[in-house]
Amino acid sequence: MAATSKRTDRAARRPRSVLLAGAALAGALGITAVAVTVGGDGGAVGMRGPGQVSDNRPGVVDTAAAEWIAASSANYRTADRPDDYSVDRIVVHVTQSRFIDATRAFRNPAHQAAAHYVVRASDGHIAQTVREADVAYHAGNREWNERSIGIEHEGYVDDPQRWFTDTAYEASARLAADIADRHDIPIDREHIVGHNEVPGADHTDPGRHWDWDRYLQLVRAAQGGRTTA
Ligand SMILES: [Zn+2]
Repeated sequence: MAATSKRTDRAARRPRSVLLAGAALAGALGITAVAVTVGGDGGAVGMRGPGQVSDNRPGVVDTAAAEWIAASSANYRTADRPDDYSVDRIVVHVTQSRFIDATRAFRNPAHQAAAHYVVRASDGHIAQTVREADVAYHAGNREWNERSIGIEHEGYVDDPQRWFTDTAYEASARLAADIADRHDIPIDREHIVGHNEVPGADHTDPGRHWDWDRYLQLVRAAQGGRTTA
């Protein structure tokens, strides 16, 4: 109730010059259409809260395949990777929940955890919830959070038939290949690891049913056909 009216007030107060400046900047950068839709109907855009705009730029994703669903800023730390920390690991997770519940949990400031991405089982849809430049709290290990990008997969470790779908493996592999390309991460089991393999981790995901051979083969194939089987 109070939050809604506050959000509307914010939108109403937003100076028009900001929007115009944004459009001018977009023009200068050669971007034809930037979704500067925060004005007008205000809260209808789905902004999470007052801090969101400055903490992270909503709608900006690191990989073309992803939809932006912002995590709460309490669940990650703003950083400037790879300038402050180099990124050399990808950590594979399984949510132990539904996609919708995972993204909802990441939006909850009390959750104290979020990964950068969540892959939906049914269709391979990808949500990006934390920018790759930022340190997401997903690995349960500070140093590993700082050096890694986390990919969550919707599902349950004990029900691979239902959740570890071909579509999810393939979508995740394309994502991992893209991350590996951009951060120059080798595609091997030393650099693409399970949450359970992070030093000190008390989590068991992605579990014994996650098919690592298949996954790495798909990542290599997605990166450019350097598959050696
Ligand atoms: Zn995990």
